[in-house]
Amino acid sequence: MKVLVYLEAQGAELKRVSYEMITAARSISNEIVGVIANADDAAIKSAGNFGLKKAIKLEDAFFANHSSSAIAAAIAQVAAKESCNIALFPANAGGLEIAPRVAVKCNAGYISDIIKLNSDLTAQKPVYAGKAMINVAIDTDFKVFSLRPNVFTAVKGGETEVAIESFAPALSDKDKAVKVTKLAKNEGKLDVAEADRIVSGGRGLKEAENFKLIENLATKLNAAVGASRAVVDAGWRPHSEQVGQTGKTVSPTLYVACAISGAVQHLAGMSGSKVIVAINKDKDAPIFKVADYGIVGDVFEVLPKLTEKIG
Ligand code: FAD
Repeated sequence: MKVLVYLEAQGAELKRVSYEMITAARSISNEIVGVIANADDAAIKSAGNFGLKKAIKLEDAFFANHSSSAIAAAIAQVAAKESCNIALFPANAGGLEIAPRVAVKCNAGYISDIIKLNSDLTAQKPVYAGKAMINVAIDTDFKVFSLRPNVFTAVKGGETEVAIESFAPALSDKDKAVKVTKLAKNEGKLDVAEADRIVSGGRGLKEAENFKLIENLATKLNAAVGASRAVVDAGWRPHSEQVGQTGKTVSPTLYVACAISGAVQHLAGMSGSKVIVAINKDKDAPIFKVADYGIVGDVFEVLPKLTEKIG
């Protein structure tokens, strides 16, 4: 059984979710091939610490455009060339665009956003906005899964040398159908979907300027800034920071919810966080039902003190 893992670079390393996927792949097979576009060899080689032995670098000037249709077409060609049986993608913005396209091209079944992958290739995923879990299996020969970031633990697996091969796919005009017209860089900001720690703010912050309190704590904790939909709808924060049913699903180690009531649609996006801290002046706010630690208090008093206390 051969597993293809779609890797993404972040500077001189790979994104953490890439190491998580390599570890998940190791738990089901000894034969793993990484596939990556737009990466330096140094970033690819870092996967050797996690046991990756072979990676294929997709070569085509068009990939600089981050076209999901072109990358999917190339990955489908690699899957056929390498006789892979399974393909793993991150359930983040990039992976979720590419994985279903690869599944269609490979006549494969696809399960998105899984939180567990068993050795018999059944998988577990949340449904009904996280209210229930289902076990699912794919009965096609080739199987595609996307893995929720921050759920699978990345475990180092001996230092191996990654053999890097280049592959120039044959791309048709149709494969190049998706063209990225504008690439907005996150300017060093952590993405909530992949962050290990998140400090989120809600409507109780009263105005956009008060998010400085959230940013200050986030900086101290090396955390990403998140927001409730009420805040995004008010135009205080960008939609890319929205956590919840119509925003991003997050699974950080630490989620600090500040002046957020805890509506079901918000909980749907963050209840999988490992440790949840809630700060709210209303002791009956629903957020306290999912919180591991709760502070009943005014964010304007609590946040500056908390930020000062942290190293
Ligand atoms: P509020 O519900 O107004 O809560 C503000 C909280 O701040 C209150 O609990 C209050 O006690 C507290 N507070 C006020 N002042 C202070 C203070 N000084 N100190 C401490 N605490 C204070 N919401 C999302 O977040 N994400 C989604 O993806 C999402 N998707 C949705 C999809 C649909 C189809 C629908 C219908 C709704 C969706 N919502 C979503 C909206 C959701 O229902 C809530 O309206 C929203 O989450 C409320 O945001 P909030 O908690 O910031 O605001």
